[in-house]
Amino acid sequence: MWARALCLKYSCSELPDMKYAIVFLVILLGVWLWRKNRADDRNEAGAQPKPKSATTSTAPQVMVSCALCGVHLPKSEAFSGKAKHYCSLAHRQQREP
Ligand SMILES: [Zn+2]
Repeated sequence: MWARALCLKYSCSELPDMKYAIVFLVILLGVWLWRKNRADDRNEAGAQPKPKSATTSTAPQVMVSCALCGVHLPKSEAFSGKAKHYCSLAHRQQREP
């Protein structure tokens, strides 16, 4: 449909070249967007250290609850006692003096 409009606007002999140029541009745009996305991903990954440490917000975290007050917190931030976890040193000392 648009090709017909172009055909009226420009001479039809130029149209095939224009078509290829447009297709080429679209492909170029696609590749550029794809590369941009990949670069963004890499930047996000590079901004934070690898999610080996459980402190990154994106990494799945093991949640534990304080044995004293029952508050839930990431295991990496919990204070571990003999067999249980606590939200703070105070609670650990209270339960396990
Ligand atoms: Zn607690």
